[in-house]
Amino acid sequence: MESHIMGDLAPELAEQLETHLRQCDACQRRYEEQKRLIALLQRVFATKRRFA
Ligand SMILES: [Zn+2]
Repeated sequence: MESHIMGDLAPELAEQLETHLRQCDACQRRYEEQKRLIALLQRVFATKRRFA
């Protein structure tokens, strides 16, 4: 899950995961939550770098 979001998963695995996410509400919610969390962390780190 985490590695898929970070973009270092093999393309065929990512495709399988996306197919599963379309069919599975629980994983879709988890995936969206993690994407939001990572976007938030990236904003925090970007802000820290600007003021370092
Ligand atoms: Zn699932």
